[in-house]
Amino acid sequence: MIRLTTENTQNAVAKCRQLKPRVKFIKDRLFVVYSANNSNVYHVRFDVRNGDKFGECECRASERGLICYHLVAGATANIYRQSLKLAK
Ligand SMILES: [Zn+2]
Repeated sequence: MIRLTTENTQNAVAKCRQLKPRVKFIKDRLFVVYSANNSNVYHVRFDVRNGDKFGECECRASERGLICYHLVAGATANIYRQSLKLAK
């Protein structure tokens, strides 16, 4: 899993805003992100350890340790979901 920081997610956030991929919640911190460019779908997972956020995607960029826009899309949905839970 890759540690997510404000710095290393910047480019992916910009790309995510541009492409606006669809995200579907599966369970817990698992999401499916639909590629904006083709028919691929990627599972993205998240974890929190000692207050740090970690994420993992199935695409090639993530395999190389890069933050992809799928991760950011999933993370955005995850944060939104957590905030809904807290609001209850
Ligand atoms: Zn990805």
